[in-house]
Amino acid sequence: MMPTSTYTIHNFSAGPCILPQSVMHQAADAVRELDASGLSLIEISHRSKAFVDIMEEARNLVRSELGLPDHFEVLFLQGGASLGFLTAAMNFTPEGSSMDYAVTGTWAKKALKEAMKMGNAQAITSSEDTGFNCIPPLPSQSNAGAVHITTNNTIYGTQYATDPNTDKPMVADMSSDIFSRPVDLSKYACIYAGAQKNMGPAGTVLYIYDKDAAGKHGRDLPSYLDLEVHAGKDSMFNTPPVFAIYTSMLTLRWLKAEGGVLEMQKRNAAKASCLYGEINRNPLFNGFAKSDSRSVMNVTFTAADDAHTQMFLEACAAADINGIKGHRSVGGFRASMYNALPISSVEVLVDVMKEFERTHG
Ligand SMILES: *Cc1c(COP(=O)(O)O)cnc(C)c1O
Repeated sequence: MMPTSTYTIHNFSAGPCILPQSVMHQAADAVRELDASGLSLIEISHRSKAFVDIMEEARNLVRSELGLPDHFEVLFLQGGASLGFLTAAMNFTPEGSSMDYAVTGTWAKKALKEAMKMGNAQAITSSEDTGFNCIPPLPSQSNAGAVHITTNNTIYGTQYATDPNTDKPMVADMSSDIFSRPVDLSKYACIYAGAQKNMGPAGTVLYIYDKDAAGKHGRDLPSYLDLEVHAGKDSMFNTPPVFAIYTSMLTLRWLKAEGGVLEMQKRNAAKASCLYGEINRNPLFNGFAKSDSRSVMNVTFTAADDAHTQMFLEACAAADINGIKGHRSVGGFRASMYNALPISSVEVLVDVMKEFERTHG
């Protein structure tokens, strides 16, 4: 018997995180049998026509949904965003030059740390002094060859409101807000994003980069760390993570059918305004991030009275709300509201907050 459970959980997990239910069903089907082929997605050759077509569709959907100019390359690789820290720095810091980093949170700090292992990276701005509760302005001029930003700080719940301005090409970790809104590609040399926040399951990382900016590093890079090696093999230099890429492709198909990134931007804004509105109104809760830096994707907040923290987590659990506990470095609560999270789940959370005020205020 097939299990017939339909999910009733409101999944606010920060990552891995909620995906559209239709995507999870199709992914499960493909593991059993891919498109009536008699074979599972995970037992066919990655060189088969079936999988080559999947890879091409995934890359083309990235192109169409972000509106990539032709001179941008799209790759699905491995190692997560964590290897991306190093890979992006190696490929887009010309030797003899350096990369400036906006240090806006834990992931940004880790990105800088990896780049510093090559010896040519430094912070240009930081919000560490204030516990990473804001996005500090990005200096309009940089003496480095490129500027690295983390567009959305998943842990602290801060986000650049729009693509910032600086006089150098930017390299960006967009792991937790890619496909949540349009991107001004003209400002970026390279974007990388782990799939598991807004695009698919863990196991693949997306690289998008300007081919004109690539190959200027002057280094003899190890093959796997050289993006141009992957580009030369159409993202098939070695066995790709077929399940993660297939499922990301399904999510991108879903995104396109739902109206694309502009529609996602609208929905995400509605969800954010619903939850931040309640955080502003409800005296039992405080927002963590400064208002002008608040993330649309990850909403961080705390209980005004710390004695309420555990009680509120229990109230959420009783309402089938999952993944709301804050990251250990911030405490309190974090509601991650990626593309696939319906606004009805946010409304359930807001109702729990109102009820909590009524019973504990
Ligand atoms: C989750 C996350 C990472 C780490 O991603 P991995 O794929 O686990 O390496 C890096 N940057 C940001 C912004 C993230 O949210």
